[in-house]
Amino acid sequence: MHTDAHRAAIDALELLLPQTQCTQCGYAGCRPYAEAIVTQAAPINRCPPGGAAGIAVLSAHTGQPIVPLDPEAGTERPRRVAQIVAELCIGCTKCIEACPVDAIAGAPKRLHAVIVEACTGCDLCLPPCPVDCITMVIPPPGQEGWSRADANAARARYQRRTQRIERQQLAQAHRLADKAQHHLDELDATTDGADDGLVQGSAQAAAQAEAARKRAVIEAAVARARARLAGR
Ligand code: SF4
Ligand code: SF4
Ligand code: SF4
Repeated sequence: MHTDAHRAAIDALELLLPQTQCTQCGYAGCRPYAEAIVTQAAPINRCPPGGAAGIAVLSAHTGQPIVPLDPEAGTERPRRVAQIVAELCIGCTKCIEACPVDAIAGAPKRLHAVIVEACTGCDLCLPPCPVDCITMVIPPPGQEGWSRADANAARARYQRRTQRIERQQLAQAHRLADKAQHHLDELDATTDGADDGLVQGSAQAAAQAEAARKRAVIEAAVARARARLAGR
């Protein structure tokens, strides 16, 4: 359970990170890395996009000594942005699913394009592309840098996307719970007939055993669905 002070410490540290959401630090995004630094589970030198300047900022904030960037996390490099080779794109949407900041526009079976000013250069869209039609290129003139304003905008885009995905997952969990409950209701209606003696002898016993098996399976599914919803 996070206290308000603990959450505030994470908030403050998160705002110092570049917000590319690249996961090179070994965490699922900038906020989990911020949390790991606050709890001292991670050192301050695992963010390649932040580089040496970022380590200096984290050092000043945490009081920890300045150390070189951990090469296992990656190397510092100038900003790059993704570019899609139009002739090769098959519109599969895999890159959209992978992009943590909604920086790719497109619809199924249509050409996709990168929104350059929103692209954090995280590289996460490269591996999923089945036709290798995404490359990382030097940004257009005037967009070579990555300012604090860029980072804040990326953080806002990341949060909007995260909230949208959570809403979708919640709706899906409700759908699954309703579906499982519907199957249970149907089973109850069916087994009512068997209990009334409409099915006789060994056939009745077999039908009841099968109904009991199905009921156990469906009840477990209902319990899982309810647990998923309760955990939100
Ligand atoms: S920019 Fe990448 S490496 Fe740096 S904290 Fe964020 S996710 Fe981790
Ligand atoms: S377009 Fe690719 S490189 Fe750019 S932010 Fe999205 S996933 Fe990262
Ligand atoms: S993953 Fe590649 S092929 Fe699929 S939509 Fe994106 S750029 Fe096009």
